[in-house]
Amino acid sequence: MLLSSLLNSAPSRLLAVSSFIALALPALAQDRTTEAGEASITDPTLECTAYYYAPVGTALAAGEFPTVWQSATLLPNDTEGQQIWASIQPSVPTNIQPKGNRNSSLANVTYDAVADPDCWWTVGQAGHKCTTPKHNGLPNDTWNVPEPLTAGYGFDDGPNCSHNAFYDFLTSQNQKATMFYIGSNVMNHPVEAQRAIADGHEICVHTWSHGYMTSFPSSAAFAELWYTMKAIKLVTGVTPKCWRPPYGDVDDRIRAIAHGLNLTTILWGWDSNDWQNGIGGVTDADVDNFYSQFVGNATAGNFNSVGGIILTHELNNYTMSKAIEWYPRLTAAFKHLLPVSVALNISQPYVETNYSLPTFAQCHTTANPSNASTTSGSTSSGTGTGSGSGTTNTSGASAAFSPRVLLVGTLAAVFGAIAAL
Ligand SMILES: [Zn+2]
Repeated sequence: MLLSSLLNSAPSRLLAVSSFIALALPALAQDRTTEAGEASITDPTLECTAYYYAPVGTALAAGEFPTVWQSATLLPNDTEGQQIWASIQPSVPTNIQPKGNRNSSLANVTYDAVADPDCWWTVGQAGHKCTTPKHNGLPNDTWNVPEPLTAGYGFDDGPNCSHNAFYDFLTSQNQKATMFYIGSNVMNHPVEAQRAIADGHEICVHTWSHGYMTSFPSSAAFAELWYTMKAIKLVTGVTPKCWRPPYGDVDDRIRAIAHGLNLTTILWGWDSNDWQNGIGGVTDADVDNFYSQFVGNATAGNFNSVGGIILTHELNNYTMSKAIEWYPRLTAAFKHLLPVSVALNISQPYVETNYSLPTFAQCHTTANPSNASTTSGSTSSGTGTGSGSGTTNTSGASAAFSPRVLLVGTLAAVFGAIAAL
């Protein structure tokens, strides 16, 4: 989810970048060109002051990306993207039409929710919760995790420019999470995106401009995913293999495009509604109630066979503060609080194979969950499952960030095998 005010204000940030470069950069004491330098800033106002990061500035100037915070389209000069789209396009259903517009997939839409021919999932609609595709060859969406008493823990809409205090908190708890990053935010806050890798978090794709994905023409939906993958690769050196649709808005046409890009669709079973505080009559007490329901179901034993995924956000100070506030109760209620891929026993979350996620043991494992005695049937011991055999270069916040280590080959090479599928 994303506040519309953030969307509306984003283009002005671009203008601020250029003026800032000319006027303010020489006066800065902090090093704002490195992950470690930016991560050391404790003043949120300074954190959110625009800065220039050469790889991003160069790529934008060369026209290699769509305009930040505008709906992405596949660029005519992007031969790499054009080739990959051409390889995926034949697998995309042509009998599913775009729905609504980028701000509402439901606008002026007539749809048979009972027959549900497109397997449509979108937020706020009880009749649109399909996660088992009807189109042949598409995997089911992921909305829970197989490990008992486990919570898939992640945050949407980052990187937020003022997330240092929140990430400091996660580091202080040795807590890893999945960060669903918006491509436009990655371009605006690149060293903040690098911090996710340096701290050992997982990065998944959350589209370029955060519109309703089922509203986009197929090539534009591809572009929303493709340029976010490219942005994350440019800045962090890794290419995600997972994505979460904004508003959960996905159908079999969009699933086919994501699947063609080797992206697993990650939804959620529980919505904290933290993004909605102050909107549409939702109050802080309501958000507490949503969190409480998730925790209460854990303590009641409802996750003793299969774990859950909760939707929370890096959207603003409120959502991040709420996460910190509820953290002790989450760790008391669940045995494992983990990045989604770790909870899914996926050790290599990126296309690049020289990177592994932290193991179960390296992630936060609570010592005394309130109902820890009911763990029969677990496929994990809590020590090592999901570790894989690759080289882990994410030992924690103290690890030096070195994106160039992973800058191997072009995305076209990375996707060579995928294009053949
Ligand atoms: Zn979102």
